Amino acid sequence: MTTRESTGPDHATTTLTIDLDALAANYRLLAARAAPARCAAVVKADGYGLGVAQVARALATAGCSTFFVAHLDEGIALRMILEDEDAEILVFNGLMPGSESAYRVYRLFPVLNDLGQIERWRRYCRQHGTHPAALHLDTGMSRLGLPPQETATLIAEPDRLSDLDLCCILSHLACADTPSHPLNREQQSDFAAAVKQLPETTASLAASSGIFLGPDWHFDMVRPGVSLYGVAPVPGEANPMSPVVTLEGTILQVREVDAPQTVGYGATHRFSGPARVATVAAGYADGYLRSISSRGVAYLGDTAVPVVGRVSMDLITLDVSAAPNARPGDSVELIGPHHDVDALAAEAGTIGYEILTSLGRRYRRHYTGGQP
Ligand SMILES: *Cc1c(COP(=O)(O)O)cnc(C)c1O
Repeated sequence: MTTRESTGPDHATTTLTIDLDALAANYRLLAARAAPARCAAVVKADGYGLGVAQVARALATAGCSTFFVAHLDEGIALRMILEDEDAEILVFNGLMPGSESAYRVYRLFPVLNDLGQIERWRRYCRQHGTHPAALHLDTGMSRLGLPPQETATLIAEPDRLSDLDLCCILSHLACADTPSHPLNREQQSDFAAAVKQLPETTASLAASSGIFLGPDWHFDMVRPGVSLYGVAPVPGEANPMSPVVTLEGTILQVREVDAPQTVGYGATHRFSGPARVATVAAGYADGYLRSISSRGVAYLGDTAVPVVGRVSMDLITLDVSAAPNARPGDSVELIGPHHDVDALAAEAGTIGYEILTSLGRRYRRHYTGGQP
């Protein structure tokens, strides 16, 4: 594995390593799983916190040619990043008034989320030339997309879509990470019924977890995000994805303590006997969430060392009593082979998505792999 690129502060003592070969392998695994459906990639929120430039280039090299982002500005940034001018970039958040020309100039495809947006885009295209757009049908999220009544109107009045270059019709599953949830089948059949009555184009329903519900959910194109970055698509089952992220801290200081001393803000952890505490530079300002306080685990080699006391802004404290040789300069695994993103997320009471997208800017970032 060759280190390709390093970014971030020069003197950081905590290092985030992002394995672009693992990312590419995950893309290929999902694409094979979804075939014959095509596989797009969701790279919103700076490539789920991992750096959209590096992530998107590696995915393009792995064969991805359709990308989704949330914000128009993310789409504009991605257009500058991608070398392939024909790569498709779709923007989930829709067509806000005044943004039409940015879509055309940067060759981005808006995801139209209501009848008003459809009408506005048609009017714009009549004046400036046609340009593709996607349609989002809400089948159960009550978030973005045409509500069912508007979808019915569209089906009853097909003229509302005339002259529209429709590149994709999509919907989003609410409960795909719970395979037994009845809403999965309901949304699948509502979506299938709607696309059958709308102009023929690429239909897309499944994100990461939806791919694993089975072929009925794949339609023409799947659009995974989080699983590309190594997070388990089906919680509680063996994770088929390769880990992409490693987070390693360096011990800054080791403190010998004994009862009745305490550690950290609020004195929430009291030692009951002699112990050794190691301090590492990762805190809630770095996305090492405060809810991990007294619940998390790190690893010194193969030895589990628990987080003791509160996570503070810049630091965590680890009980390294089980590793009597631990000393300043030693490396500590915060996310890695012993302890993946999902494990840390469980300790934080959250999901892998939030851990990834919270990863801070004060870590040194190493990108490995990614060469064609
Ligand atoms: C974020 C998002 C995705 C990707 O979801 P993952 O669960 O990360 O795979 C797909 N579709 C829509 C509409 C999204 O908002």
